Amino acid sequence: MKISLAPILLSSILIALAPSCQKEVALPPKATGTGSNSANIEALYDVDKQIISNYKNWPFGKSAYQHTKNIINLGPRAIETKGHLKTQAYITKQLKAFGWKVSRQSFKAKTPYGTRSFVNIIARRKDTLTSPNIVLAAHYDSKILNGFIGADDAASSVASLLEIAENLPKQDSTITQQTELVFFDGEEAIGTDIEYLKDGLYGSIYYSKYMRNDVAGPKATYKHTPKFGILLDMIGHRNLSIKIPADTPYSLLKSYFAIVDKHNLSARFAVAKGSILDDHYPMNVIANLPTIDLIGDFSSKNWWHTNKDNLDNISENSLNVSIQVALEIIKDQLSKK
Ligand SMILES: [Zn+2]
Repeated sequence: MKISLAPILLSSILIALAPSCQKEVALPPKATGTGSNSANIEALYDVDKQIISNYKNWPFGKSAYQHTKNIINLGPRAIETKGHLKTQAYITKQLKAFGWKVSRQSFKAKTPYGTRSFVNIIARRKDTLTSPNIVLAAHYDSKILNGFIGADDAASSVASLLEIAENLPKQDSTITQQTELVFFDGEEAIGTDIEYLKDGLYGSIYYSKYMRNDVAGPKATYKHTPKFGILLDMIGHRNLSIKIPADTPYSLLKSYFAIVDKHNLSARFAVAKGSILDDHYPMNVIANLPTIDLIGDFSSKNWWHTNKDNLDNISENSLNVSIQVALEIIKDQLSKK
């Protein structure tokens, strides 16, 4: 991931994206400050463990942190590697243990580097009878860079979905039964940057096309388009800074602001200046599934797509608050339907 697209007016929501996409501008120099001060500020940001959800007995962030650790210990997850296969097996095993029915969406796609193989992993509850209303998604592949393990990009998001997969059924069977969990493959471009329909977003494009065709077709894995989706991407880093795309669908933007305002989270949860090319984009424009991308402000992070994106970069407290914000958005959305 990810490409920030040129700033656009909110009124041009979801229309004027692709051709003008530009590479992320150079990172601003990191504030230097004194070493001890910087460390203190970092610690201050990281100490508060806010509980904003009314789900009781859910140790938010704890198992997500452990899953993040377990996943990165499997090695880099670049497509078609051993670590990639091990991660698929890990995700599948965990989901099954938590009572989810798992299916694999295997496909090949043309890339600038030849035809490559991908696998999306999709889970629904065993007792789900109806078509899902909610899609929660994250990408499990890691960028092809030497030794890159992508702790926050996006092992932490996969880990958060696994924490949700374990705990949500115990807390809220109504939401659980409406939910589909999706673990996308091939989000990362094989080349340097994502270029829409050329390189990157392979899993989400395939998934979105499948959904669009299936809703209209006889097989009906989806009897209708789900009501909304939430994509998690880079949500567990220390000194958390989330900036959702400016062209987030309006209804989800409203829910986001409602939660952020209610819990005084605006220092950490904000809106980017422009659009962002990430897995939510095909979900919105191909599947017509309104989807919000809860995404870290990668453009300001000097560790993004470097080997500094390791376990030291991950905070249990950041995972805690990000997971809760996602859950609160779900509840807010459902309260309006
Ligand atoms: Zn990335």
